[in-house]
Amino acid sequence: MKELQYLNKYFIKYKYRFLLGLLITIVAQIFSLFTPELIGNSIKVIEDYVKSAQKDVALLKYELLKNILYILATTIIAGFFTFLMRQTLIVMSRYVEFDLKNEIFNHYQNLSQHFYKRNRTGDLMNRISEDVGKVRMYVGPAVMYTLNTIMRFTIVVIYMYNISPKLTLYSLLPLPLLSYSIFKISSEIHKRSGAFQQNLSNLFSFTQEIFSGIRVIKAYAIEQKKQNDFLALTKESNTKAMDLARVNSLFGPLMILLIGLSNLVVVYVGGSMYINNDPEIESIGVIAQFILYINMLTWPVASLGWVSSLVQEAEASQKRINEFLKEEPAIKNPTHLPTKINGSIIFNNVSFVYEDTHIKALNGVSFSLEKGKTLAILGKTGSGKSTILSLISRLYDATEGEITIDNQPITTVNLYDLRNQISVVPQDAFLFSDTIKNNIKFGNEKATDEEVIEAAKKAVVHENIMTFNDQYETILGERGITLSGGQKQRVSIARALIKNAPILLLDDCLSAVDTETEETILNNLLTYCKDKTTLIVSHRVSSAKNADEIIILEDGKIIEKGTHNELLEQNGYYKDLYVKQLSEKEIS
Ligand code: ADP
Ligand code: MG
Repeated sequence: MKELQYLNKYFIKYKYRFLLGLLITIVAQIFSLFTPELIGNSIKVIEDYVKSAQKDVALLKYELLKNILYILATTIIAGFFTFLMRQTLIVMSRYVEFDLKNEIFNHYQNLSQHFYKRNRTGDLMNRISEDVGKVRMYVGPAVMYTLNTIMRFTIVVIYMYNISPKLTLYSLLPLPLLSYSIFKISSEIHKRSGAFQQNLSNLFSFTQEIFSGIRVIKAYAIEQKKQNDFLALTKESNTKAMDLARVNSLFGPLMILLIGLSNLVVVYVGGSMYINNDPEIESIGVIAQFILYINMLTWPVASLGWVSSLVQEAEASQKRINEFLKEEPAIKNPTHLPTKINGSIIFNNVSFVYEDTHIKALNGVSFSLEKGKTLAILGKTGSGKSTILSLISRLYDATEGEITIDNQPITTVNLYDLRNQISVVPQDAFLFSDTIKNNIKFGNEKATDEEVIEAAKKAVVHENIMTFNDQYETILGERGITLSGGQKQRVSIARALIKNAPILLLDDCLSAVDTETEETILNNLLTYCKDKTTLIVSHRVSSAKNADEIIILEDGKIIEKGTHNELLEQNGYYKDLYVKQLSEKEIS
């Protein structure tokens, strides 16, 4: 129960609803007790009639009819209150489920990159849906049935005891056995359904990956192999489901057996007492009454076993949820004071090691960039270019050295203001399954249609968009149109431009664009970036030559640094690249 204590705050939040539920449960229980008593009484009336000398049929009929009407009335009232009980307690559990889902989602969003690399998407989704569902079974049904059982048990046993202590004792004897066996079966069900769920999770992750990678699978024609993998997974799933069904089907017969046993005990012991003229059993009606009581008790008592397995499951699920909720974001916001960013950036001997792979991506990198200036970063793949940009948006923190923004250490700047004032075009442009317009407006919710078009024109993608049937309303992604790599990059650039932030980070975002279009975009950027601090990562000299400074990275170290002309004089990597790309241009 330790993990489930986390939920206490929700019980406190919904305390009035909870207490109301408790009250309603008591009322429902009291009303459901009338039926056995009235039936017992009816039998007694018939018995008296049979024994009496002058047979008054009219009186008998009157008494029986009265009892029937009472039974009808109290049953309806009990039913109504049971309905209200579910309405309050189960509805409360739905509220808690809603709150918990939102809490987890919000927390997920705050966690850092590192967390997402360590955990699989399928697992994250499972915890926010399956596990929350299991926890709800604790907050709702488990709590409700427990309350119900306690109330019913207390009230019924007091009633029974008042009529006949001896018969009460005998008829309660089989109940612990019932509860224990149900508990055993429920635990077994729990274990097997856990195995089944785990398998389902695997199946889910597997199919998800297949669907997202369907293009590659088709291109390599490995459908048959994947089909076999799927078959193996579903076979396992099938075996697990059969295992589960076997214990599940034991449940019903066992219940019936044990209830039958209790009834036999009541009939045998009660009957013997009646025959021996025991004063506690004044009429056969009492035996009927007891049979009804016992039947009223068996289901709640059996449900204790079921409830305890629900609680076990919820405990395991809440543990998994708590694991993630306890996870602290690696990158924390140091202050809630708003920060206005000007845009000067300094790297002072910065090194960075990726925690999981232990790759040293940056090694003693230093540069300083004044507000409004442009820095171009060139180098082979894997030399650490993207890592520099990640450190500026604080997706990671430097392992050694210091980064400052406007001469303040970056770790002391308000994190959200920092990110809000940086426009990023990442290397792998990601677009959402939404309209093109909304994908661009993602950079600035308040942008007008004119501004969207303006940004698209600067990114030289407007003409492309106008050729689609729905133009800016064209849906992208899974259910819509698939853009080419270059188109994606340009939409992604438009998104960054519309944000109009003082710092602009461009990560190799023209790689899939032809050189002519690149030239136009770079020209557009020249005016746009006049007052903005810009870092442009590229493979091409053409993107770099106009920058105020160019650095060349190799294995995380800066090997060359200077302006276009200075670097050409150095006769190093940059010069080589320049000559090579110049000749390529001449050929084409
Ligand atoms: P570039 O952008 O110049 O191609 P990166 O900055 O992406 O280079 O990568 C630098 C090095 O860090 C590479 O060796 C790469 O494998 C490694 N690396 C990049 N991103 C990650 C990551 N998220 N986790 C672990 N290692 C990474
Ligand atoms: Mg990169």
